[in-house]
Amino acid sequence: MRSLDAFAAGKLDELDARHQRRTLVPTARLSGPWLERGGRRYVSFSCNDYLNFSTDPRLKAAAVRAVEAHGTGAGGSRLITGNHPLMEELEARLAHLKGTEACCVFGSGYLANVGIIPTLAGGDSLVLVDELAHNCINAGSQMARGRVMRFAHNDLGELEALLKAHRADFAHVLVVTDGVFSMDGDLAPLPAMSALCKAHDAWLMTDDAHGIGVLGGGRGSAHAFAEPIEIPLQMGTLSKAIGSYGAYLCASRPVIDLMKTRARTVVYSTGLPPAAIGAALEALNIIETDPEYCALPVERARRFTRALNLAPAESPVVPVILGPETRALDAQRILGEAGYLVAAIRPPTVPAGTSRLRFAFSAQHTDEDIDRVAAILRERIL
Ligand SMILES: *Cc1c(COP(=O)(O)O)cnc(C)c1O
Repeated sequence: MRSLDAFAAGKLDELDARHQRRTLVPTARLSGPWLERGGRRYVSFSCNDYLNFSTDPRLKAAAVRAVEAHGTGAGGSRLITGNHPLMEELEARLAHLKGTEACCVFGSGYLANVGIIPTLAGGDSLVLVDELAHNCINAGSQMARGRVMRFAHNDLGELEALLKAHRADFAHVLVVTDGVFSMDGDLAPLPAMSALCKAHDAWLMTDDAHGIGVLGGGRGSAHAFAEPIEIPLQMGTLSKAIGSYGAYLCASRPVIDLMKTRARTVVYSTGLPPAAIGAALEALNIIETDPEYCALPVERARRFTRALNLAPAESPVVPVILGPETRALDAQRILGEAGYLVAAIRPPTVPAGTSRLRFAFSAQHTDEDIDRVAAILRERIL
């Protein structure tokens, strides 16, 4: 198919011209924050493995035990034969951690958001989404039959104006935001947002991919504020701090029962493999017993923001915004030569003109490495 190849090659040429072409690099992850690429070892500041759980011997052993006892695959969708006993245990544990009635586990964070949002937002609904929300929230919103509007990042004034202007025109309104923004590391203003949603009978949904395990004593962004906050739809992933794979929605019993019978990505997709569930359960064991360890990634991030006179980190994610794509790529190269892997993040992952280094701090980063990276940034990049 020559026209097909010409189409693909033309698209790639356009991306090359904008310095936006991406390539995959084989990367072997070692213990803690270490990894190996192209025959060289690096300290990575680009893994979302905030608690360094994905190579933790306790999680590995739990995954192996789950494989030995239950095999490698789920064998079917959850509604047919893929609803593993360990899955029920994982859902009960996650609901307990989040303080909700019930939980539904999904195959991944992406699958969760493209399953949850269309299940809740039919043709009579409005979906209001923060403009910096994760790509899969936008994908889920596009798949919903309802109307979608975006509000400026963390702008409660605009959210309120949209609710006032449009609430009466729709049977239901769903408001969706990241709890912790994946590329900026800031938190959504959840206490005020929750109050606003309540006042307008809008349903608030948070995506806590970067909050679970590391904020609020490991319980996530809903528990990171002084007062307890009511968030009826708490989604998150098991692939970041939890060190495994899969995702969850914690909510009331009726909402979860609806997901299990109607969310397309639950009904038509295979259940998680036992190894992923076993590892996630072990991660929850550690999180529930060691809140001090859970606090370490944010402490590391704050050491870094202090060293660079940046606003104090709110999460383990700290962006250093450099602007043009080429500047971010140069910075990545300079740090790489010093043995630090920090991936340049470019559009369309972030808005045009805000290419950046995105630092992700983990429990096992050392003070020496953090200080050295900050020094290189100060002296050679900023
Ligand atoms: C990573 C991420 C996801 C996707 O989760 P996966 O389990 O990797 O599919 C969803 N939302 C946010 C905010 C994320 O950062």
